[in-house]
Amino acid sequence: MFGLKSDPSTELPERYFSLEDYEGGVARWCPGCGDLGVLTAVQRICRAEQLPPEKVVCVSGIGCSSRFPHYVGTYGFHGLHGRPLPVACGIKSRRPDLTVWVATGDGDCCSIGAGHWIHALRYNMDMVVMLFDNSVYGLTKKQTSPTTPQGMSTNTHPSGAWLPPLDPLTAMLGMTNVSFLAQTVDWNPAHLHATLAAAYRHKGLGFVRILQRCPTYSAGVFEDLQRDPSRLLMLTGPRGIQVEPAIANMFPNKREHDPSDLGTARAICEAHDPVPIGLLFQDESRPCYDAFTNHGLGMPTADKVAALEKELDRFTV
Ligand code: SF4
Repeated sequence: MFGLKSDPSTELPERYFSLEDYEGGVARWCPGCGDLGVLTAVQRICRAEQLPPEKVVCVSGIGCSSRFPHYVGTYGFHGLHGRPLPVACGIKSRRPDLTVWVATGDGDCCSIGAGHWIHALRYNMDMVVMLFDNSVYGLTKKQTSPTTPQGMSTNTHPSGAWLPPLDPLTAMLGMTNVSFLAQTVDWNPAHLHATLAAAYRHKGLGFVRILQRCPTYSAGVFEDLQRDPSRLLMLTGPRGIQVEPAIANMFPNKREHDPSDLGTARAICEAHDPVPIGLLFQDESRPCYDAFTNHGLGMPTADKVAALEKELDRFTV
């Protein structure tokens, strides 16, 4: 009968999301910029997981990669320099049902945003954080960033960067409550996709450092790694990033690694050469702060007001 739930004419068609559903504005990155591949990978993961676009938020700070939310057909927040992580944590606190992708650069995350970086890792809220590391401030036209190689000429250090670069991997392996840490490269789409998908599936903060090409301002930084894949060390193993054999065969240097072994992860990263790609560390037993901040979300308004009144009464004199 008309109007009954069993009447097929009243049932909404099941939604299917295509790649176009996750497309936003036309990307205005330079031709050959590594950010383009990361954008495609995230859109493909959203489609594979059939995430309703209105249930996804992309959050960023400031920098070339931070234009990311404009190019994804979901909710987005393009915020202040160095501040994407507190915004993302706030979103996750109030809306645990949303999938949160954070796009941040080496300057945004590891310099002005470093304080937030440390604490967001400690909070370990369920989200994916993508560090687009191109070793330079690209948006402001080639200034030295925390990860600029020593000796590289930039506009702020024309005779070469003075200090040794900060290594985000070794730094994070020393941070409290880190639960997922991986590294990948933008020029291998299959490994990039598999790494981001693993971070998405991780329960907690999945942090992925992406070695990202900037052909405009730091073209030479990853050139050797691209030309000679033996400079990369692919981490393998049953708990690692899984790729097809044809992709794995592209990397002659491999090492089986147990991502629960923090000490070995540190040793691999500290060696610097070869450069590791894959899952360095994972521990899903680490506490997630959103499990605490989500308490009381479904509380009726009257109960919230009563709880507030009770708190205010504590200060009655
Ligand atoms: Fe990409 Fe570099 Fe161009 Fe920025 S300046 S859009 S990082 S290639």
